[in-house]
Amino acid sequence: MMRSAILAAARSPQLEQLVSAAPVSRSVVRRFVAGTTTEDAIDASRALVHDGLAVTLDFLGEDTEDAGQARAATEAYVELLGALGAAGLTPPTEVSVKLSALGMLLDEKLASDNVLAICRAADAADTTVTIDMEDHTTTDASLDLLLRVRKDFPETGAVLQAYLRRTEADCRDLAVAGSRIRLCKGAYDEPESVAYQSDLEVSRSYVRCANVLLAGGGYPMFATHDPRLVAILEDRVRWYDRPVDTFEFQMLYGVRPVEQRRLAELGYAVRVYVPYGTQWYGYLMRRLAERPANTALFLRALVGRK
Ligand SMILES: Cc1cc2nc3c(=O)[nH]c(=O)nc-3n(C[C@H](O)[C@H](O)[C@H](O)COP(=O)(O)OP(=O)(O)OC[C@H]3O[C@@H](n4cnc5c(N)ncnc54)[C@H](O)[C@@H]3O)c2cc1C
Repeated sequence: MMRSAILAAARSPQLEQLVSAAPVSRSVVRRFVAGTTTEDAIDASRALVHDGLAVTLDFLGEDTEDAGQARAATEAYVELLGALGAAGLTPPTEVSVKLSALGMLLDEKLASDNVLAICRAADAADTTVTIDMEDHTTTDASLDLLLRVRKDFPETGAVLQAYLRRTEADCRDLAVAGSRIRLCKGAYDEPESVAYQSDLEVSRSYVRCANVLLAGGGYPMFATHDPRLVAILEDRVRWYDRPVDTFEFQMLYGVRPVEQRRLAELGYAVRVYVPYGTQWYGYLMRRLAERPANTALFLRALVGRK
């Protein structure tokens, strides 16, 4: 119930204004968000790459209903990719994009043109793009767009969410040679008709999907912090005899950093998802919803008892 309430709050413009304006929000935001500028993103990437980790950068923003804003987000990515290339941080650093930030709610053609512009800049910088997945009403359109983009940029990454009942079938369709697929549990509040509701059901689905991806010819990217799933995945990759350069683990900036380094020291590829930018509200609310302790930390900061 708490999770649903926080995710509903994530869609409230009034609450967004209130929370974004509160100076105390910053200390909590800083734990999960690398900063607001391209330079902040480059600095965070440099530190992680120095520690032997790969990176995917997310320029924060979503649900854009304004073509100008969607273009501005695209330009921010293009500028970022140029700067990453110049700083020698590619290929270990790639970018993640949200279609809703690139104008998908407004006009699919606009979003598609924007994704292609970002893919061209990524290609020129010798790196890749992954298309984040949003709520279930967007899954079909997102996967359709992904397949179109992959005609020109086959290395473009997809995201599938284990909480959706459809995902095992989507894994079968996408687990083909060269296909980069991030598997996560899923971060949105979804109805029972389309999504498993209990933690156990979601975890079981995650393992089934992981098996499909590992048995297929693609490049799975296992995005989870769940210690039980990580242990199962370490076992499964051995079972499927997967060399360490044929899959990777992914975790979020600020979440289980010690575990990120432990996996990297074992020789696994580990990529950290690093968000930056001023539009952090929706992202932060989803991180709070994932862990009650984060919400307590945030509320304490808001009432000044951090
Ligand atoms: C690299 C990456 C990319 C993602 N991309 C997408 C996407 O495109 N679309 C989408 O819907 N979702 C995405 N997610 C979010 C994902 O769907 C989950 O909501 C999120 O990862 C939490 O699930 P979990 O697998 O870590 O398991 P959980 O059961 O939520 O967490 C397991 C344990 O990990 C730790 N933990 C997890 N989350 C947090 C947190 N926020 N703060 C502190 N500790 C935490 C806790 O110890 C917790 O007990 C992504 C996640 C990652 C790691």
